[in-house]
Amino acid sequence: MLKKILIANRGEIAVRIVRACAEMGIRSVAIYTDPDRYGLHVKRADEAYFIGDDPLAGYLDPRRLVNLAVETGCDAIHPGYGFLSENADLARICAERGITFIGPSAEVIARMGDKTAARASMIAAGVPVTPGSDGNLKDLDEALSVAAEIGYPVMLKATSGGGGRGIRRCDSAEDLRQQYPRVISEATKAFGSAEVFLEKCIVDPKHIEVQILADSQGNVVHLFERDCSIQRRNQKLIEIAPSPQLTEEQRGYVGELAVKAAQAVGYENAGTVEFLLAGNEVYFMEMNTRVQVEHTITEQITGVDIVREQIRVASGLPLSYRQEDIQYRGFAIQFRINAEDPKNDFLPSFGRITRYYAPGGPGVRTDTAIYSGYTIPPYFDSMCLKLVVWALTWEEALNRGSRALADMRLQGIKNTSLYYEQILQHPQFRKGDFNTSFVPSHPELLNYSEKRRPREVALAIAAAMAGYTGL
Ligand code: ADP
Ligand code: ADP
Ligand code: MG
Repeated sequence: MLKKILIANRGEIAVRIVRACAEMGIRSVAIYTDPDRYGLHVKRADEAYFIGDDPLAGYLDPRRLVNLAVETGCDAIHPGYGFLSENADLARICAERGITFIGPSAEVIARMGDKTAARASMIAAGVPVTPGSDGNLKDLDEALSVAAEIGYPVMLKATSGGGGRGIRRCDSAEDLRQQYPRVISEATKAFGSAEVFLEKCIVDPKHIEVQILADSQGNVVHLFERDCSIQRRNQKLIEIAPSPQLTEEQRGYVGELAVKAAQAVGYENAGTVEFLLAGNEVYFMEMNTRVQVEHTITEQITGVDIVREQIRVASGLPLSYRQEDIQYRGFAIQFRINAEDPKNDFLPSFGRITRYYAPGGPGVRTDTAIYSGYTIPPYFDSMCLKLVVWALTWEEALNRGSRALADMRLQGIKNTSLYYEQILQHPQFRKGDFNTSFVPSHPELLNYSEKRRPREVALAIAAAMAGYTGL
């Protein structure tokens, strides 16, 4: 078993990994740049090292991080998500220096991180993919002719994109002409690569993804699916496991497809295979070769600790579970609480958290690195807390979600929690009938009051009075 792990990340996922290490008797090492001096991951890890004044550079320098791991006596690096988690160089340098990279091999990361190479591997493995260009596009002319062939609308995508960026829907040739240079410039800026490709736009699809785990002995299992259809600008807001929109037959089918996809590329460690579902058609979209933001909900319905399994597998141990050992129970919902103002086009709202009170009670989990008095720095992601609820039935999970969101107090910054309370009340959402167009087609859900409902205020007053009179 690994003994000491350098966590090449920050924020809630770094804290999540520290927690797994603590439970496994493994020493954890945090890193931090100047704005993260007061980060919770720094306080919680067994050791912490300063990696520079620049807010980001230190987190993005694979060679330096591997050197630090060697110098501090670590035997492994966990990359979390974002930052270097899908950077093949980090995995390669780790291998060269005798440090275990907690993730798949550099070759697999490179292949699956390149969306056109991943599509080619899936086509070869017999996994259905969206119709699209054979590989990267040479120029606009090629884009126009491929689009004419597959038919509009099409999606123009950055080959090395991620995090919902570098994707544009094009409804006509005119549209494609306009978007083409924009996506190229966005891709170059955000991902350092100008490669783009085209695929058919699946209209009103559901985003269904399957969590898989694979060990070095060649065992691959899936942990069922997550429904991430509640998105804004191709970014996930609320995730659900299992999907309330799948039949058992569809569930079995996507699970098997994901295992087939992982086996086809010799996958090892935790990964996610993302699909689009339209009617009864399923299309492979991409594979994320890392732990995902929403791994939490899969943990809640299966009881499997995914980060622990990642560490075990990276230590060379076999998976703790066979496919038949993995069952799911109930429903889990994750709310990505972002430091953003929904009423102001989701403008980031960084600053000092004057008061934070975590929701609790049965079936409630919070993964976060914030605390009262903490100042959210402006240099990183705006997601500041993951609120996860679990209950036996879909309806109970919805009600628990509303209750937990109302329970939470997060003051000093604008955030998305009141907006999520509105989504939870919507009849279509409650019916479990939604696709990736849900958020854009319901702008009215943004017309909520920033003040809590009078009933809650009355209840709060009653509770305070009860306390005051000693009842
Ligand atoms: P998940 O796929 O786990 O649901 P996201 O797509 O929201 O997560 O991405 C998680 C984090 O990683 C976000 O901060 C996102 O901006 C970042 N990220 C994801 N893919 C890339 C990439 N290819 N390049 C840079 N950052 C990325
Ligand atoms: P990222 O790497 O940024 O996560 P994805 O390829 O996973 O990018 O796409 C992100 C989201 O964009 C999907 O969840 C989906 O909502 C939308 N999307 C991507 N491709 C298509 C498509 N071909 N048709 C319709 N929607 C798509
Ligand atoms: Mg994706």
